[in-house]
Amino acid sequence: MPLVDNVTHTLIGVLAGEAVHRFLPPSAVLSDRARRTIAIGVLAVGGNLPDADVLYTVAGTTGDYLLHHRGHTHTLIGALGGSVLLYLAVRLWWRYRGIRPGRADTWLLVGLSLAGPLLHLALDFTNNYGIHPFWPVDNHWYYGDAVFIVEPLLWACAAVLLFTLPSRTMRVLIALVIVAGLGLTWFSGFVPAVFAALLTVLALGLTAVGRFASARVAVASGLAAWLAVTAVFLATSQAADTRVQARLAWTAGEFVRPPKAGRYWSSSPRSIRSGASSIA
Ligand SMILES: [Zn+2]
Repeated sequence: MPLVDNVTHTLIGVLAGEAVHRFLPPSAVLSDRARRTIAIGVLAVGGNLPDADVLYTVAGTTGDYLLHHRGHTHTLIGALGGSVLLYLAVRLWWRYRGIRPGRADTWLLVGLSLAGPLLHLALDFTNNYGIHPFWPVDNHWYYGDAVFIVEPLLWACAAVLLFTLPSRTMRVLIALVIVAGLGLTWFSGFVPAVFAALLTVLALGLTAVGRFASARVAVASGLAAWLAVTAVFLATSQAADTRVQARLAWTAGEFVRPPKAGRYWSSSPRSIRSGASSIA
């Protein structure tokens, strides 16, 4: 569901962009509004840019899609190409508007242009499809195998923006996404009620932080919640993986036990099935 993936990438990009705006000192040249637009715009667009590979596979077959999606644009080289494009686009925009950026603005733009596509790779790494960032030097795929990218818990982290962003349209869109995430979680039938309740508490808690705390505390809380959610997923996935590996090793041990001790040397389907069922 590429479009839903991109909701997550966009929300995280907007949250990070707002944090950059809130924590950096004012620019000597750019107005607060102009710099915030650049910070949020570059991180939100850059945070989606690697998925442009969908465009050159859209005309192809399903095989093309699988081959190319998370292909060239999901590598460090591809991300760097996206960063250069972003940087040049903003420089052209500044030139068109007659803006002569200061040194600090230029370095900020360099940092944002690099960070956007890298943020995308980092998010894609944490889910189970993984990425192969070091192509063409190393073709290995790396999987965080932890976060399902369509993750309402990540959407809820953007709740802190509901009272900090100046654009009413953006605030309404974010509210709709969070409500949709809550609806999916409560009513899809796939998620236990206890997790749905946890998500609801997180979304309401972060909304309250956005409403009552300072803007800096609010965006920092949103970012902290995002990192905490990711860390919990990674740790849980690691623990589950260790348990599965241990179970598999135990089962394999049972299968290769010498004949005098082993029940599983028998090639009867029944004993193989009983061994296999103990993995689950
Ligand atoms: Zn992607």
